[in-house]
Amino acid sequence: MAAGKVTVKEAQELIRRVAAKKQETDEAVLWEAGGRVLAEDLRARFSHPPFPRSPLDGYAVQAQDLKDAGPDGPACLQVTEKVCAGQCSKRRLKPGEAVRIMTGAPIPAGADTVVRQEDTDYGEREVRIYKRQDAYDNYCPEGEDFREGDVLIQQGARMDAVRIGIAASAGYSRIRVRKKVRTAVLSTGTELCAPGMPLGEGQIYDSSLYLIAERVRELGGELVMAERVPDEEQALRAYLRRAKTCADLVVTTGGVSVGEKDLVRKALEQEGARFLFDRVLVKPGSPTTASILGTTLVFSLSGNPFAAAVHLELLVRTATASFLGCEETAPSEKEGILISEFQRPCRTDRWIRGREESGRIWIPETKEKSGILSSMEGCSCLVKIEKDRERIAKGEKVWYIRI
Ligand code: AMP
Ligand code: MG
Repeated sequence: MAAGKVTVKEAQELIRRVAAKKQETDEAVLWEAGGRVLAEDLRARFSHPPFPRSPLDGYAVQAQDLKDAGPDGPACLQVTEKVCAGQCSKRRLKPGEAVRIMTGAPIPAGADTVVRQEDTDYGEREVRIYKRQDAYDNYCPEGEDFREGDVLIQQGARMDAVRIGIAASAGYSRIRVRKKVRTAVLSTGTELCAPGMPLGEGQIYDSSLYLIAERVRELGGELVMAERVPDEEQALRAYLRRAKTCADLVVTTGGVSVGEKDLVRKALEQEGARFLFDRVLVKPGSPTTASILGTTLVFSLSGNPFAAAVHLELLVRTATASFLGCEETAPSEKEGILISEFQRPCRTDRWIRGREESGRIWIPETKEKSGILSSMEGCSCLVKIEKDRERIAKGEKVWYIRI
């Protein structure tokens, strides 16, 4: 196996190079586009609003007709017609005239302002207006929201409710998105039991499979296989052979350590995988590997649920972000200020659970072991404790990633 130990940064770089090659596109109907990544800039094909429109209920007029209007001397104008939202005036408004207008209706040609109905006597044939106002007061010009040709959303953005709303406002019913990352997940371990089944002697419930599957979905993956196999080389190899035909990405958990029953690496080797790296200089989960099987990228994570979660965030997320060309979901290290104290020297870099608010990081006093998942509840970030850093005092800087 020709591959070695890498730092997290080196691992991420190797992963990016492999995954960025596979960006494929698809079309999504807007109703189903939530969470998808835009494959090309979304441009406005017309201006919005497409016409000058009234922001309120009132009267469209010419401002010059109001120049002498006041509470004691109203301007008196002839009301020529009424336009509601969805209707359109066909005539050009002349001096001395007013058009009764409702919110959202096009302002008739010739009018340059809309008077609030509260500033009038609500007249139907003739209206008295008790206030002067300038041209383009209460006037939403055409293209106020966006203009034809504007880039509304940049490619690589992940569609959320607001972006879907913007795409709809620009008239799109379908958008070009990146293909979902076809992902196969596998948990390995003879001791693992499916939730819902009674636990046998020496067994534990399989949590990592569920955690990984859900996180992969959140990150834009589509689950094509999710299985659990015992620590048996033939079963592992059979799974890998099937997975490589239908997945861009495989994430396995368990069986990567040095025990007698840690057979995942061996199975990968037997199937002809080429390793990108076989160890990461970090804790927890240093035996994590990445390899290429055919054209499929395979991550083999530790079975310990917290260690698996760390490498899901640091490495698998790097891969899904690159497959999708979506920088906003990639794990990006930010600098924060520690507001609790941390003391626990370590000879390798270590990632631990934390909570973050506006760059202020708090490390809860929890059970910090890679086999413990429950204390990850409520954590919003992973905090990097750099190697040989003896003690980190309140107020010192630390690196973290949001999860
Ligand atoms: P391994 O990486 O296979 O050596 O497993 C490390 C530890 O994690 C062992 O205590 C396993 O029982 C446990 N473990 C392995 N896989 C899972 C899983 N899918 N869910 C929960 N715990 C697991
Ligand atoms: Mg195991």
